[in-house]
Amino acid sequence: MTDWNELDVKEARMAGHAQGTHLDPWQDAYAAKAAHLKESEIRALFAVVSRPEVVSLAGGMPNISDLPLDQLAESAHRLITSHGAQVLQYGSGQGWEPFLESIAEVMAVEHISADPGNISVTTGSQQAIDIVTQLFIDPGDVIVAESPSYVGALGVFAAQQADVRHVEMDENGLIPEALDERIRDLKAAGHRVKFLYTCPNYHNPSGVTLSEERRPQAAEVCRRHHVLIVEDNPYGLLGFSGRTYPAIQTYWPDGVVYLGSFSKIFAPGFRIGWAYAPAWIRKKIVLSLESAVLSPSMVGQMALHGYLRDYDWYGQVTTYRDMYRSRRDAMVDALTEFLPTCQWTVPDGGFYTWVKLPEGVNSKTMLPRAVTELVAYTPGTAFYADGQGTDYMRLSYCYPPEDEIREGVRRLARVVSREVEL
Ligand code: PMP
Repeated sequence: MTDWNELDVKEARMAGHAQGTHLDPWQDAYAAKAAHLKESEIRALFAVVSRPEVVSLAGGMPNISDLPLDQLAESAHRLITSHGAQVLQYGSGQGWEPFLESIAEVMAVEHISADPGNISVTTGSQQAIDIVTQLFIDPGDVIVAESPSYVGALGVFAAQQADVRHVEMDENGLIPEALDERIRDLKAAGHRVKFLYTCPNYHNPSGVTLSEERRPQAAEVCRRHHVLIVEDNPYGLLGFSGRTYPAIQTYWPDGVVYLGSFSKIFAPGFRIGWAYAPAWIRKKIVLSLESAVLSPSMVGQMALHGYLRDYDWYGQVTTYRDMYRSRRDAMVDALTEFLPTCQWTVPDGGFYTWVKLPEGVNSKTMLPRAVTELVAYTPGTAFYADGQGTDYMRLSYCYPPEDEIREGVRRLARVVSREVEL
């Protein structure tokens, strides 16, 4: 039997749909903090850009078409048939031990000699960002972040009611002097500065990399002010020349929570990342993980462990690098040809270029007109906590093939030139 309450809810829903709004019968029941959850500008674009006629330079989806699918399917089959009792069971909250050792080997490629006991497996590095933020941020606490910063981290910070303050970057990444000054001023004004969030390699969204010289300097500034560093490094192995940079973590192991991910060097569908933290912090991360998920997926961990052990995973990384380098070249060539009135960064790795629009062009208001021309990008405003960024856009070259990148930029150039005339 349907009770009156359910009918009301149904009616309210139908009325909401009819009016193009979604009247939520639970709106008075949510905790106050739920009001801080925001839809990211990128997610909001997803519906539009998934139309096949639109060239999307908006998302950060890796191109996984080169993966050895038959081999992966075969090893997944073997895993279930030979190790079903373990693979289908709960595991340890921190992660499966042999897999923690495999992760330490991946970290060694980036010159980090990691103690597997201080690694925790997370649902992508996104969950690690969420956990660290929960552990350190009370509403109003300050997070210092690059200007601009990864939109997904800003979403977490907003949800936890952090006060995000941006620090200037240039073509060599975060500027240590600016960081020092910013933290000093904030502390002098009585703010509780909890951590620096930084993405030092092939930064999302700007594409720039923190120079080797600045890495110890950034660590030293934070050490001096007793401000933790959250070093988010999903792209570090995707340098087009094969070069890897020493992690900031190596300069201050007691003060850095380092985050890694298999999403860009293997496949995001596994949703596996990790946090590497000093033992005190690692203990809290594991408690938080246990409370959130009990234990990370054994299926994912064991499958990934098999991939790392049995396949030439580093060869796959090299294949990715070559593919993304060609796409970066296609993007830069197209920008040079079609958008000479803009300025852009030329990344040495990763997925993104950051484009400065001509004077007076607003990336946010231009977007609907770009979509009408069947091209999408991410407006710069997505990457700031304070409304800056209308004069920038992020273009991703990771997903579309070269000819589509070129066509996308050609369409975009038409839109930009019309905006200039407006
Ligand atoms: N950090 C950065 C800088 C990213 O670009 C992304 C994904 N776009 C993530 C973290 C999250 O990645 P995942 O959860 O898939 O590991």
